[in-house]
Amino acid sequence: MASRAWQPNGRRRKAIVVGASWAGLQTASALKKAGLEVAILTENEDVGGVWLENYQGYGLQARNWTHEYPGLPYPAGSGSWPKAPVVQSYLRHFVVQEGLLLSISFGVHVVRIHPENGGLDGWTIVCQSSDQRLRDMACDLCCVCTGLYYEPYLPEWATTGSFSGKILHSKHLTDASIAQGKHVVVVGGNKSAMDASLVCSQVAASTTMVARKLRWQFPQNLLGILPLDWLAYSRVMAALGHPYYASTRAVKALHWALSPVKALVFKAFELLIALQTPLPEHFRPKQPILQSVYNNLGFTDGSFQAAAYNGTIQGHLAGIQSLSGTTVTLTDGKTLEADLVVCATGYKKTFRDFFEPAVQAQLGFEHDGLWLYRQTIPARMPNIAFINLTLSFCPPAFITVQTAWLAALVTGTLKLPSPEDMQADIAKLQACRRLFPAYKEDKSPLTAHMLHVEQIKYFDQIMRDLGRSPWRKGWNLLAEVFAPYSAHDYQNLQPEIAS
Ligand SMILES: Cc1cc2nc3c(=O)[nH]c(=O)nc-3n(C[C@H](O)[C@H](O)[C@H](O)COP(=O)(O)OP(=O)(O)OC[C@H]3O[C@@H](n4cnc5c(N)ncnc54)[C@H](O)[C@@H]3O)c2cc1C
Repeated sequence: MASRAWQPNGRRRKAIVVGASWAGLQTASALKKAGLEVAILTENEDVGGVWLENYQGYGLQARNWTHEYPGLPYPAGSGSWPKAPVVQSYLRHFVVQEGLLLSISFGVHVVRIHPENGGLDGWTIVCQSSDQRLRDMACDLCCVCTGLYYEPYLPEWATTGSFSGKILHSKHLTDASIAQGKHVVVVGGNKSAMDASLVCSQVAASTTMVARKLRWQFPQNLLGILPLDWLAYSRVMAALGHPYYASTRAVKALHWALSPVKALVFKAFELLIALQTPLPEHFRPKQPILQSVYNNLGFTDGSFQAAAYNGTIQGHLAGIQSLSGTTVTLTDGKTLEADLVVCATGYKKTFRDFFEPAVQAQLGFEHDGLWLYRQTIPARMPNIAFINLTLSFCPPAFITVQTAWLAALVTGTLKLPSPEDMQADIAKLQACRRLFPAYKEDKSPLTAHMLHVEQIKYFDQIMRDLGRSPWRKGWNLLAEVFAPYSAHDYQNLQPEIAS
């Protein structure tokens, strides 16, 4: 395939990066270092995406080192779990350090991304600035870095009906005073719902969390001593999961043989977590912990569980049937009185809307997400990459590895297999992942984007692609097995590959 971005051709190639947060900024930096001219577009007036606005007091849920660019720690005094403003100013610092400021266009909303000659001649980005005028920008390579947690999703019952109270998405719960003295219903069963419930419960007359399903949350330190983010980001956790789609038959057989041991380990986790952060019956997750680990890993400092246990936060396991007047009717027939409903109902995956339907199909969009080769590029459309549109435990490590792979591709250090071979690899991944109980049961529309517990296996695969050793801890075998992998383990990867 004669591809403009993947093959250096003596001409300075231009990349457009859509998004100016963790993914967009590192992608831009990597491509600049690879010799491309780079323009970054963001619809916000500042860098930071997720870290610009969300519910009151939000911040990192895992420790700071899990969310740093390689070799760039947070400044002293940021705390182990930095709050959003610290994360955002860290990103500003990265922009200055990498000399990216002049490459960023703020307040530019991307409306459409259109392939020229099937992508072979690059891409046209249709965007709209604050004056509402549409304009086209052409590029050889387009990188979509618009995040998976960006545009709030509101279910239909929240946008129709005749509720007389206030309805807002958890992203807009920026000031708890809106819940002062109110009867609040928080809808959702994930980390944002728990945090939003906690925020409201401090000032509300009553707070009730309504969820169809509750997921396990990991205490930051198990029994007060074992930091679970260490374990979660390590090879031990990866070994406890299902085998990777690319694992050899022998490894798959070993996983199968060890499944009773793995089941016991997870049962022990469930018991220890339940002991440390006890919950009343209606708040106890019903699914096995491995399923929560595969869907998303939430960390907790125990405050939500304490508030649920002492009854400050009430809970109902049900869906929402309808809202009317001041009444919330649940799918089990129960009713709740409320004057504020907070929807912790997740985010829209708007990047699909950038593309016309025919292009979506060519790119690899299916009912369960966008299926990409190495979670990064479509098998059949050249010159476009999707960065961090994957759910991993450690986005900065994922982005570091992914952008190094992309840079190797644009510098010609790495050659792609044929589109047929890439498609065959994707088919293998699909076949394996669609069988995982966690995704099968939830029929997740994000199955293609799930990496989570498999992230180290992905990192290893990319290291092999790049001809680098996957073992990044030197000769320290204990660290290799038990210590966590973060972005710092891939520091200098790009120059290493280039040399
Ligand atoms: C409340 C909350 C807490 C989180 N906490 C953690 C945590 O503790 N640890 C962790 O690892 N992860 C956490 N995450 C996940 C978080 O999304 C990632 O860590 C990371 O911020 C994602 O970065 P990103 O660059 O992919 O996207 P985002 O930060 O979402 O940025 C998206 C970018 O795309 C731009 N954009 C979007 N649409 C358009 C458009 N149409 N036109 C132009 N620009 C556009 C935006 O302007 C923005 O610059 C959290 C997410 C949320 C919502």
